[in-house]
Amino acid sequence: MASARKTGTRLRLKEPENRATFQSALIEWFRQHGRDLPWRRTHDPYAVLVSEFMLQQTQVATVIDYYHRWLERFPTVEALAAADEADVLRMWEGLGYYARARNLHAAARRVRDEYGGRFPRELEKIAALPGVGRYTAGAVASFAFDLSAPIVEANTARVLARLIHLRIPIDTAPGQRALWAAAEELTPAAEARLYNSALMELGATVCRSRAPQCLLCPVLRYCAAAPHDPERLPIKKARKATIALTEDCAWIVHEGRLLLQQGVGSRWKGLWKLPPLADPLANGEEPLMQLAYPFTHYQVTLRVFPAPAPLVPGANQAWCPLEGLETVAMAAPHRRAVRQLNK
Ligand code: SF4
Repeated sequence: MASARKTGTRLRLKEPENRATFQSALIEWFRQHGRDLPWRRTHDPYAVLVSEFMLQQTQVATVIDYYHRWLERFPTVEALAAADEADVLRMWEGLGYYARARNLHAAARRVRDEYGGRFPRELEKIAALPGVGRYTAGAVASFAFDLSAPIVEANTARVLARLIHLRIPIDTAPGQRALWAAAEELTPAAEARLYNSALMELGATVCRSRAPQCLLCPVLRYCAAAPHDPERLPIKKARKATIALTEDCAWIVHEGRLLLQQGVGSRWKGLWKLPPLADPLANGEEPLMQLAYPFTHYQVTLRVFPAPAPLVPGANQAWCPLEGLETVAMAAPHRRAVRQLNK
């Protein structure tokens, strides 16, 4: 083995004995170098599920505070199941992609109603919970129950694609099949909790998309991409171009109250926002303020214009006292605009 490192010979992960030493090397590295993240200290499947939902599309550094606040407010699956949706959305505010919060809430209710509040241990039952896909099910099964379940998410996909030198786009069906097959083949029967954490950690800290630190990598000698140009992997389909959008809204204050409208579409369902404005420029108005935010492949400019109070609020609209705005669950860009204008 030592000579393999010296001579640059790669150890093929197809060989079972190499897989075993690969797993031990990765786990050993993680024991020494893994970051101490709050969700790695628990084996509570509910807390693991909360962290996994939050970590979908949100950075670790942002999630940490939300995770602690969430578990303080909803410490158990029963507490979350019993909560009102407005409370759940309020606690999620700022994380975006609110379907995650609604699915987490629905999953807690399913665990309470179908499993008497005890989290199921079987992979298929976990995967059948609302909003739980193959990755999240594997994460809960391995992190909470230490079951041998493979995981493929952004970090592990990158590491696996490089380890096996996968030269097809990973965001296609054949690419996904190849990744899951590799993940399945490489996940050990024992210590899957540590192994999966280690694989994710390697992707987050060493096998980064730009400038992977191969010379510091504990599994360099098993990596089929390292002698080539690992930075070029994984291959992905061409990205959609960013599209600029403008969202014009009304700032309508009357007798110390602000007019808000509750979202009904899938994007901000249940959340309050400033009412939309059809044609602000018809009156030549300047916006009171504007801000920019990204949404999938859109770059949105939110502009807020003054507008007169209607005689009767429209559908899904309501007046909210200015001093009570912080207690209302609000879409994050609208919260920023409201805070700026309500100083
Ligand atoms: S050797 Fe380099 S490319 Fe291969 S897994 Fe390690 S860091 Fe990633």
